[in-house]
Order: sequence, then C-alpha cells, then structure tokens
Amino acid sequence: MRQFATGRPDAQDEEELRGFARELRFKIDEGELSDPIDFPGNRPYREYGGVPMKPKAGKACIQCGLCAKECPVGAIPDEDPSKTDTSACISCMRCIAVCPRKARSVSKAFLTAGSMKLKKACGTPKKNELFLHN
Ligand code: SF4
Ligand code: SF4
Repeated sequence: MRQFATGRPDAQDEEELRGFARELRFKIDEGELSDPIDFPGNRPYREYGGVPMKPKAGKACIQCGLCAKECPVGAIPDEDPSKTDTSACISCMRCIAVCPRKARSVSKAFLTAGSMKLKKACGTPKKNELFLHN
C-alpha cells in the first residue's frame, strides 16, 4: 500500500495546513465556530464495516511478545502472540511493522483486493480540500 500517497504531506501541503491553522485560529478567536460546516459528502453515511485485514503470525514467530505489547487495542494475547482477536483488531498493521522476524502477515488475496481499491481512489495525487465557516 506504500505506493499510494508517497511523499505526502509535502512542502505544499504543509504550507496549506499552516494557512488553514492560521485561519482556524482567527475564527476561534473571533468566536465564529458555532454553526455547523456545510461540506460535500454522501449522506447518510454508511455504517463502518471494518477492514477485513487481520494479521496472523506464521512459522517464523519466536513468541517474543513484542507484537502483543505494541498492539494498540490488545488484540494479541501475551500468552500466545500467534493468535489475533479479529473482533478487537483495527487493522492498523503495527504488529507487522514491529515484528523482528517478519512473522506476521495478512492474506495476500485481501491485500491485492485492497490495493486495487486504493489504486482507484488514490492512484492520482489530489488537491487538499479544507473546510472552514464562511
Ligand atoms: S513480534 Fe513477531 S516474533 Fe514476536 S511474538 Fe509477535 S509475531 Fe512472534
Ligand atoms: S493490526 Fe493493529 S490492531 Fe490488529 S493485531 Fe496488529 S497491532 Fe493489533
């Protein structure tokens, strides 16, 4: 997935965000943030169904427990890090990043499907859209 949004945020993004922060600060100071903001989107929002990518440990796992320690939602049991509580996992991929043995992975089929979906949505760089009250 790292092929998408490579190099962002860049210098231009940072400049735009600094400008946005300045405008926001001004609005806060002026007390102009009480009305709801009207911004585009598909409503009603769909219920979030989660991401079907739940990492699992393979044979290279040495049971060091680092992934269990680093998982932000405690989805990997300390006593058996080869398991993942899929109902608790938020698919953040932290456990894959920290594993010293590269023992954790997600299903290649899901990864390919997710990558194709992202390519469609994020394959070309987009301009920032920042919303403030008028
Ligand atoms: S960090 Fe890797 S090697 Fe260590 S327990 Fe987790 S999966 Fe196994
Ligand atoms: S993907 Fe994130 S939430 Fe899921 S088991 Fe790994 S570290 Fe925990």
